Amino acid sequence: MSLNIGVIGTGAIGQDHTRRINQVLAGARVVAVNDVNRANAEKCVADYAPGATIFDDPNALIADAGIDAVLVCSWGQTHEEYVLATIAAGKPCFCEKPLATTAEGARRIVDAEVAAGKRLVQVGFMRRYDPGYRALKRAVDSQTGAPLMVHAAHRNPRVGNAYVTPMAIHDTLIHEIDVLRWLLDDDYVSAQVLFPRKSPHAHEALRDPQVVILQTAKGVVIDVEIFVNSRYGYDIQCEVVGEEGIARLPEPMGIQTRLNATLGQPILMDWKDRFIDSYDYELTDFIRAASAGTAAGPTAWDGYVAAVTSDACVAAQEAEGTTIAIDLPARPAMYG
Ligand code: NAP
Repeated sequence: MSLNIGVIGTGAIGQDHTRRINQVLAGARVVAVNDVNRANAEKCVADYAPGATIFDDPNALIADAGIDAVLVCSWGQTHEEYVLATIAAGKPCFCEKPLATTAEGARRIVDAEVAAGKRLVQVGFMRRYDPGYRALKRAVDSQTGAPLMVHAAHRNPRVGNAYVTPMAIHDTLIHEIDVLRWLLDDDYVSAQVLFPRKSPHAHEALRDPQVVILQTAKGVVIDVEIFVNSRYGYDIQCEVVGEEGIARLPEPMGIQTRLNATLGQPILMDWKDRFIDSYDYELTDFIRAASAGTAAGPTAWDGYVAAVTSDACVAAQEAEGTTIAIDLPARPAMYG
């Protein structure tokens, strides 16, 4: 039996997930969509979900008896309301990051899920599904010994003028915050941010690059370079230094050339291309679990921890150079 999915928010990622569910993956269909931008909803239905119903009211979509599960792909500020409504309806919910734009909002979702008594929420932290990160985790867990340090980088070629300094945390670092915690099976205890000399390509309201230093409960020190005006490419780097050796995230596949006295390999320019397989895998996992009435993958608790850590990192930006403590309450038993 096919899982009937309703998608709220049919912009870039909502349309791409609809395409993925209806044209690439098995076991589910997008049968309904909602968007405040009616043109986006109509385009999504015409291009990827012919025959799907366009709901004017997102809450009516969530409550509709014909909808088994919901994808929340609208603006971040709206996620909390729609995820809470989906939990209240007892339906599985895939929520794009961020789970909520405040730690308090993410906590309300955790509390609602705990009260519901079973997992219903998967957060769209797709890097956990990337084959490269999975291979890296296997090496860290079984080959290189207990981790001591992590050196990571998140570089984009350029950003628009709407991208301001805190977005380097909320929109960019958020993926490292989640995937490194998963990779190390550890929690953060503090954050510090250092700003090197500013790139001449960074606009007035953006301090770029920046280096975020996170320390974990097990004593690992992580440095993440965020550089969103690198010009040369979209480049994700991660190296884990362990007691017995070092493991590095593999480069994305690309044809190597020996040409004109140069050994060359292309570098991706668009973030959409870097984790393309991971989106397929995360939604496959969602469809599998939602078909059984539950959720898999990154949890609401992971979304909450990411929100608490993001807030600490933004505070660390504002208090440049100061170490900000990250205090997490006890993890509810449901999250293992
Ligand atoms: P987008 O292209 O702006 O699309 C968002 C869509 O939601 C737009 O059509 C927007 O309408 C609509 N919308 C806004 N408020 C709404 C509401 N209250 N109810 C229903 N629809 C509403 O943005 P996007 O790039 O797809 O990003 C959407 C979410 O996915 C964000 O949270 C983003 O962080 C996340 N995301 C995650 C990844 C990832 O790698 N995991 C990648 C991209 C995006 P308007 O056109 O009128 O604004």
